[in-house]
Amino acid sequence: MSTCLICAHTAVQPRTACARCEHRVRGWLGELPRQVVLLTASLELGTRPAQGFGGAGRAHSPLPVRGDVLNLLGPAAPGVVRDTAGDQGGPQPVHAVLHAWADQLAEDLGHMLPPINPSAPYADYLARHLGHAVRSSWIALMHAELADLVRRIRAVTSTEPRRRPLDAPCPSCSAFALGHVDWQTYAACEACGLLLTPAEYETHRAAVMPPLARLGVLLAAQHLTQEAS
Ligand SMILES: [Zn+2]
Ligand SMILES: [Zn+2]
Repeated sequence: MSTCLICAHTAVQPRTACARCEHRVRGWLGELPRQVVLLTASLELGTRPAQGFGGAGRAHSPLPVRGDVLNLLGPAAPGVVRDTAGDQGGPQPVHAVLHAWADQLAEDLGHMLPPINPSAPYADYLARHLGHAVRSSWIALMHAELADLVRRIRAVTSTEPRRRPLDAPCPSCSAFALGHVDWQTYAACEACGLLLTPAEYETHRAAVMPPLARLGVLLAAQHLTQEAS
């Protein structure tokens, strides 16, 4: 056993991050390309100069795009922008953060970084090789940068994934704490961190829910009988 560098809970060696933290990072990597679409759409919102009669009559047109959004969408600097030592100040654009970590990952894996997919700049690549990242010494730094990035983007787009509670109890800890968050691959237990694929959850649900429902009916019937007597 080892310790998760992100949350200090137990991780199974040789992992440096626990399954729950990996799940969170994977969720962000799935969310980021979708958020970039929303960011692009909000680039011009609310920034148009007053037009027509009764306009504010400004002497200068305001910046036609939102500066905060532009900062997030800005292109990465040319060449390698390695900031995995965390020594570069200032908020980084989405692309720069993802590029830097993809670059670090490719170096660790000893291969060339594939060409950029502009619609999902390196998020796909990072998700594909996340199994390596959660065994690296730098996972906590990547987690912190992605957390910051996601927080900055959600503040602009006012959009965050919703959690839908699931009705079956957790097969591992029996708590009614399973839920599915938008854009994530797994259902997760908030109590013990167990992850289930949709197929695993459905199989589990089909096995436990009918007996639970029968038990509920029996309890309700017993309650009614007691009230009547
Ligand atoms: Zn963890
Ligand atoms: Zn659980």
